[in-house]
Amino acid sequence: MRWGLIGASTIASEHMIGAMRAAGGEVASVLSSSADRAESYAAEHDIPVGVTDLDALLDGDIDAVYISTTNEKHFAQAMAAIAAGKHVLCEKPLAMTVADAATMVRAAADAGLTFGTNHHLRNAGSHLAMRDLVQSGRIGDVLSVRVFHAVHLPPHLQGWRIDNPEAGGGVIPDIVVHDADTVRFHLGEDPAEVVAMQTASGLGQGVEDSVMSVWAMPSGVQVLTHESFTHRFASSGFEVHGTKGSIVAKNVMTQRPVGEITLRTEAGEEAVPFETHNLYARSLGLFHDAANGKGRPSADGVDGVKSLAVAAAVAKAAKSGQRTPVDYLGV
Ligand code: NDP
Repeated sequence: MRWGLIGASTIASEHMIGAMRAAGGEVASVLSSSADRAESYAAEHDIPVGVTDLDALLDGDIDAVYISTTNEKHFAQAMAAIAAGKHVLCEKPLAMTVADAATMVRAAADAGLTFGTNHHLRNAGSHLAMRDLVQSGRIGDVLSVRVFHAVHLPPHLQGWRIDNPEAGGGVIPDIVVHDADTVRFHLGEDPAEVVAMQTASGLGQGVEDSVMSVWAMPSGVQVLTHESFTHRFASSGFEVHGTKGSIVAKNVMTQRPVGEITLRTEAGEEAVPFETHNLYARSLGLFHDAANGKGRPSADGVDGVKSLAVAAAVAKAAKSGQRTPVDYLGV
């Protein structure tokens, strides 16, 4: 798989270029809006071609693009890549609106192209192990889920995320989408309705940096979530509580293969072992297979539309103070 990178981003640099190569892919080219940056980024990461023109990147010898520009650019870049016949792995949130995301995903499906959303958490050994416990009935019927994803945004990422709503800044588009995807992954159902409150608690300038929300699942399961950029000392966590047991996982809402999982039942507490593979390399491996006609990406386009629909409902509920249904636009 020959990849073109759309966006000379931090996430590509810190995780995705290595993951593409680890999964047997080649990074053929990179697009930046700045010629100097295209050149320096290409040189730093040993990428043969750096360009500033999207058509030039798409005309090159590549099979797929990875889109990791700021969020307002994803839609037009994905549509251009699909029109050029390239498979697309797109960063979350897929677009600024659910309608745009749905359009991208339908366009890729109509063109017979593979479309993936880069939701890393469902690739974590920790979440795979937890999902196995849930789905094998070890905790009985699920009653509730609690998601603790209030973290501290590292200084080098305190740019557009904290002050630029036009670029898709704010903790809701940034983190709620991941939590929505992870909850859907564990429960196998889509949130139906949400309530939420948001605030700016030290970092957000014109955007929210913290939000708490409650989601109603169609089965009756309740979900409680907390996302923030400003919590220096709160560890992340994910809990699933059932009629026969509870799964309590600490430090698992992260890009790294770390954390601890405890299963608590009438028999007592036990530590749950899990695989510690690289999350992004697993995702890339599944994407390569899907593009070659085997299986599906770990999170596909529909998953990306649905996670964005939940985030959009949380944003709407936080602004209106009303219970808000999640509108998946029929996807
Ligand atoms: P960055 O701010 O690092 O990159 C976004 C854009 O900013 C780049 O495309 C680049 O523009 C420009 N840029 C980056 N660094 C510099 C710099 N040093 N000087 C000048 N311009 C710079 O964003 P992230 O990598 O944090 O996020 C990009 C996308 O990836 C977002 O959609 C985000 O939501 C998603 N993301 C997903 C994660 C996941 O785990 N799935 C984790 C982190 C981010 P240009 O390309 O024009 O040079």
